[in-house]
Amino acid sequence: MSIDYKKYIASVKDFPNEGIIFRDITPILQNGEVFAAATHEIAEYAKSRHADVIVGPEARGFLVGTPVAIELGIGFVPARKPHKLPREVEAAAYDLEYGSNVLEMHKDAIKPGQKVVICDDLMATAGTLHATKELIERLGGEVVGAAFYIELTDLKGREKFPDVDIFSLVQYE
Ligand code: IMP
Repeated sequence: MSIDYKKYIASVKDFPNEGIIFRDITPILQNGEVFAAATHEIAEYAKSRHADVIVGPEARGFLVGTPVAIELGIGFVPARKPHKLPREVEAAAYDLEYGSNVLEMHKDAIKPGQKVVICDDLMATAGTLHATKELIERLGGEVVGAAFYIELTDLKGREKFPDVDIFSLVQYE
């Protein structure tokens, strides 16, 4: 079944700041059939990349990535905002479309050589992807792909990572 995911993405003007159009994926999550279809498409992608583990950045990456990991029967690793993880962490700073932040992963979260697919709701400038990839690589993992519900193509995030295979369900300019 082919789904027009854009019908289930709400575009909200001037959120969280003036001039930004926020792409809200919660209507996808609210519809069981659409959520399952989006999860399945990303799971098929991650399977084709031979993923051993899924990594999702806080917070919407958890929503996108965990059902994919469950569908594939593989593990999920959260990349979290600072001071959330209780054990020893690796940390990387990154710039957002609006603001900056730090992401952390537990040092033992990825085993050396594991193939990782990163899952998140949206790729804008790819700063989040950059930090998440850096953490995975510092822990000895290999990023074999990155999957998003939404890609903002004008921001050319894809061009910053010619070595990363990037998959998105829908694109906006
Ligand atoms: P990037 O780091 O610039 O690629 O921004 C992507 C990150 O910011 C993702 O983790 C998204 O969840 C979040 N983000 C940025 N813009 C939006 C949006 O319009 N809708 C939902 N999330 C967004």
